[in-house]
Amino acid sequence: MITIQNVKTILTAPDGANLVVVKVETSEPGLYGLGCATFTQRHLTVYSAIEDYLKPFLIGKDVHRIEDIWQSAMVSAYWRNGPVLNNAISGVDMALWDIKAKLANMPLYQLLGGKARDGASVYVHADGRDKYEVEENVSLLMEKGYRYIRAQLGVYGGQNHQMIKPENAQEGSYYNPKLYMRDTVELFDHLRSTLGYELELIHDVHERLTPTDAITFAKQLERYQLFFLEDALPPEQIEWFNMIRNQTVTPIAVGELFNNPNEWINLIKDRLIDYIRIHTSQIGGITPAKKLVSFCETFGVRTAWHGPKDVSPVGHAANLHLDISSHNFGIQEFSGFNEAIQEVFPGCPEVKNGYMYPNDKPGLGIDINEELAAKYECKEKLPSWMMARIPDGTAVRP
Ligand code: MG
Repeated sequence: MITIQNVKTILTAPDGANLVVVKVETSEPGLYGLGCATFTQRHLTVYSAIEDYLKPFLIGKDVHRIEDIWQSAMVSAYWRNGPVLNNAISGVDMALWDIKAKLANMPLYQLLGGKARDGASVYVHADGRDKYEVEENVSLLMEKGYRYIRAQLGVYGGQNHQMIKPENAQEGSYYNPKLYMRDTVELFDHLRSTLGYELELIHDVHERLTPTDAITFAKQLERYQLFFLEDALPPEQIEWFNMIRNQTVTPIAVGELFNNPNEWINLIKDRLIDYIRIHTSQIGGITPAKKLVSFCETFGVRTAWHGPKDVSPVGHAANLHLDISSHNFGIQEFSGFNEAIQEVFPGCPEVKNGYMYPNDKPGLGIDINEELAAKYECKEKLPSWMMARIPDGTAVRP
């Protein structure tokens, strides 16, 4: 029997975002697995969840029993399905799949059923201060072979220096939701009239609208034929997706903030969304993700795993093995890997001409240089966009 001998939690930030990587070491000399447990804004809390609680729970367990370890770890704190503990379990779960595939001497996608396609289409982000700059940036990405592009105006939009705020207004990242809607509709009108309809365009609302404004917005964007509209509503308002679905054919994607299966079951079984955008290291790793893939396939829902900079390359690799092996894969979000990230994580997935490719190494196909990782210390900082407020000063969903 091969057992878990040690669990290491590695904190590193080679591209600025705090990353949490789990290394599960086994009784077999040289055999270990890696997983992504990143919750960038609470990396120390995840660190403690792994080091103080999961590690003593796991040492001595049989590395092969992934399902049993996942199920028992999930209830090992009794309260469950929340951030932090889910991230910690995700790191361990991915590492165990990495180990299993290394033992099978196969890339993980082979264990998941083999290739359903040869490359995973990715979408990338374009931004700009005005519609002309966004158009320019979209064109530059198209020249690099990208065919799916998320277009945003001024990050999440709606900034306005003439905004009238109340006296003693609190600090924050203020935006005007109505202005954001008007500017964005104008942006898509401009992009379609200058670049045509060949290109697949995506837009992320980032849950910044009220439910009725979100419905209006989805209807207004319908004529620009988006690939999907992302996070039109926050997780707290998912019942409203029914209203959006009844009023527009704009494809809908949601899910990066979900933790608990009850958040996605009805959306999928009632066919209210087109793409599920789960953050794999937020729901517990590959074990629950592969079940979610099958559940979605039954209802015609496709996957679009969350892929920002605060998913480690280990998490990106896990996403990619799911993308390559799932029939109902839709698209993969990709935010690029800088040089430092590629040095710390040898075997980063490669993107060529708009497709992401796994390598053929056994397991997840990715490693970590721990010495180098230690040079990029995590820092405590809150991105300014997270302190979102509307003009009257109300703190809203970021
Ligand atoms: Mg998003």
